Amino acid sequence: MFKIILDKNKCIGCGTCAAVCPGNYELEDGKAKPIKEEVESLGCNRIAEETCPVKAITIKSVPDKKESATEKQE
Ligand code: SF4
Repeated sequence: MFKIILDKNKCIGCGTCAAVCPGNYELEDGKAKPIKEEVESLGCNRIAEETCPVKAITIKSVPDKKESATEKQE
């Protein structure tokens, strides 16, 4: 799982993230907002992180809740 952290204080509302990854970013009141804060796979989120001109997007890898809950294998 990946957690998307968007720093609204840094965001200048340029819309690049919504353009490169429309499924996961939208603009609200001139600032970007992640539609989903946690995603299973990175997909275009990495592109959004890399292309944001002010580096307002940070993506962190977080442990999968399902995997950590089921530790026994057989
Ligand atoms: Fe804001 Fe960065 Fe998205 Fe531009 S690319 S709208 S600065 S988060």
